[in-house]
Amino acid sequence: PILPGPVEGRRLATLGVMGGGQLGRMFVHAAQALGFQTAVLDPDPTSPAGRASDVHIATAYDDEQGLAQLMQRCEAITTEFENVPAGALATLAAQRPVAPAPTAVAIAQDRIAEKAHFAACARDTGVGPAPYAVIEAEADLARVPDRLLPGILKTARLGYDGKGQVRVDDRAALAAAWERLGRVPCVLEQRLALRDELSVIVARGADGAVVHFPVQRNLHRDGILAVTEVWSGNVPDTLAQRAVAATRAIAAQLHYVGVLCVEFFIVDDGSADGALVVNEMAPRPHNSGHYTIDACDVSQFELQVRALAGLPLAAPRQHSAAVMLNLLGDLWWRDGQPVTPDWAGVLALPGVRLHLYGKHTARPGRKMGHLTVTAADAQAAIATARVAAQRLG
Ligand code: ADP
Ligand code: MG
Repeated sequence: PILPGPVEGRRLATLGVMGGGQLGRMFVHAAQALGFQTAVLDPDPTSPAGRASDVHIATAYDDEQGLAQLMQRCEAITTEFENVPAGALATLAAQRPVAPAPTAVAIAQDRIAEKAHFAACARDTGVGPAPYAVIEAEADLARVPDRLLPGILKTARLGYDGKGQVRVDDRAALAAAWERLGRVPCVLEQRLALRDELSVIVARGADGAVVHFPVQRNLHRDGILAVTEVWSGNVPDTLAQRAVAATRAIAAQLHYVGVLCVEFFIVDDGSADGALVVNEMAPRPHNSGHYTIDACDVSQFELQVRALAGLPLAAPRQHSAAVMLNLLGDLWWRDGQPVTPDWAGVLALPGVRLHLYGKHTARPGRKMGHLTVTAADAQAAIATARVAAQRLG
């Protein structure tokens, strides 16, 4: 393992991260709390993680000198976003431990490869993806089965927060949408009537040991995560167990090392609980796991640090019910006029913790921070979260 703190004959160990967004920032905080130094590679000189890190290398992700500096500086390297160029990760992995492996990140980067992996895992887990078809050429449009419409057309690469997706009701709309998306490789998914959305975060070590967080219930608005709620009993036990088992299988079959989040849908199938469908995965900590900083004895970011450093992964225990509210840039605007959210009003509430990511400009839809409300029970957490949301307008 890479041990933190002073070790005779060695400088303080440094952990590196590709990407300087809020996920990288919270990784940096966790690494530093454990006694590691950090290095961030992100082209933006004001990136949230870059400003928190001991070292910030402000070059393009595929810049040879930037990558060389990162390798020279770091004992091991991870990534905070899945769209880091696969070639850059491979360059790093040739000389330093990189977790997750570039091959696993490459699958998560590409919805076509990702769904194929889910479909392969479904033979063991019984939890498969939504019915879908791959659209790579004009001729694929004609071959789409009727049952996939109405559907959602998603670009295979680079989609996030609902971007790179178009809802299509019929074949004409499908053809137009594929044009609009630039005729790039896509998947068309059947549009499902979602009863709920869940996510599961696991951390897996190089020795194959896996630990998991409780199943998270997520509410999206306009394709962006808005609220995550986690407490025991929030998801029916059988569904929760199946979601955790499926996530473990998805990680194990990738030989995954690091933190992995898998998103699920619950759809009606006539049963009381509904059926699980696997949606997508993120090869890193996830927005729906931010509550773990405040409501669990070990956070998703600390487990990312531990997995990267080869340190033990203790099973996390949630000690408080939690509601996480995402804070989007919209909060800083009312009727086209800039406003300052009522931070004093929310911080006055018991159990509220505010996390702002240090971004200088608030744009609608931009993730600026989050609030975690913790309480002894779900009712209290929900009640406080309601008041907090009201005070934020
Ligand atoms: P991303 O999070 O990368 O933007 P997702 O595939 O997770 O993309 O889609 C974003 C959201 O859109 C989901 O959380 C869900 O609310 C909705 N959605 C995605 N796929 C479907 C589907 N097949 N049927 C119904 N809703 C969907
Ligand atoms: Mg998603």
